[in-house]
Amino acid sequence: MTFKELNLIEPLLSALEKKGYTEPTPIQAQAIPAILQGKDLFGLAQTGTGKTAAFSLPLLQLLHNSRIESQPRKHVSTLILAPTRELAAQIGENFTAYGNNLGFKNAVIFGGVSQGPQVDRLRRGVDVIIATPGRLLDLIQQGYISLKNIEYFVLDEADRMLDMGFIHDIKKVIAMLPKKKHTLFFSATANPDIQRLSSTILHNPVQVEVTPVSSTAERIEQKLFFVAKEDKRSLLKWVLDEYNIDHVLVFGRTKRGCDRIAKDLNKAGVQAEAIHGDKSQGARERAMKGFKNRTLRVLVATDIAARGIDV
Ligand code: AMP
Repeated sequence: MTFKELNLIEPLLSALEKKGYTEPTPIQAQAIPAILQGKDLFGLAQTGTGKTAAFSLPLLQLLHNSRIESQPRKHVSTLILAPTRELAAQIGENFTAYGNNLGFKNAVIFGGVSQGPQVDRLRRGVDVIIATPGRLLDLIQQGYISLKNIEYFVLDEADRMLDMGFIHDIKKVIAMLPKKKHTLFFSATANPDIQRLSSTILHNPVQVEVTPVSSTAERIEQKLFFVAKEDKRSLLKWVLDEYNIDHVLVFGRTKRGCDRIAKDLNKAGVQAEAIHGDKSQGARERAMKGFKNRTLRVLVATDIAARGIDV
């Protein structure tokens, strides 16, 4: 299967070639044709399956096609909701890369940073908003964003949104959207709350499902060490040296625990930084950047902060 066989247009195909993608992932192969046909979608998929491209590519194509048929839009036509700022930023980067040849503008909207630059960007006019729920509602309330012309709506990582307590915010956003719209709903799990929420916004959706949640990545070899609590950190240092690990993501359960692990490693001469919800956006971005360009050896993160990070 090739991207061309999915009937993607040339500007998207060349963007994909530039990215080095040779063939669609299973969720892309299933979702892209359904979305291009205008169907609502219920996608059961985790981060890492290629789901961002699975919705971004057909959306860009639909936006492009309707721009040819009528005048350019003067309003925001697409809203993508994501649970965390990292995920929103990542979707924004991908959307920009895939749509590079089509000229659509997007704005990434999230809290924890000053709203000035986001508002400036909105004022200059955007086609697509990628947002976390809190800041989105804030800017709507201040009159900078209107959702009344939204034609395409994506709810990404819906289960995580509910885990993070966003249900009321999501319901508020949904209530502001036009009745008639094309909706894509993604979740890693399908518990009854998710089913209920999806059934309120999807119309005759096509359901696609990839990689059940309980499966583990085949490329990953897993090892388990039994160790006394007080020896955990010296074991970590030993593992890093013993296995010659020069680039590693370490998960901690609590924010304070992550800070302690990073501090301990630094004391032992190992470059490490922690990211979690209490860190400033600047500190998180610096740590992520260092980790991505490999100047930072160890990134220590809480589960919530790390889920969905793509490195
Ligand atoms: P996602 O699940 O959207 O977070 O994507 C996971 C990773 O897979 C990202 O690094 C994407 O850039 C990458 N990716 C997406 N689609 C493809 C593809 N067809 N071939 C190779 N890599 C891909």
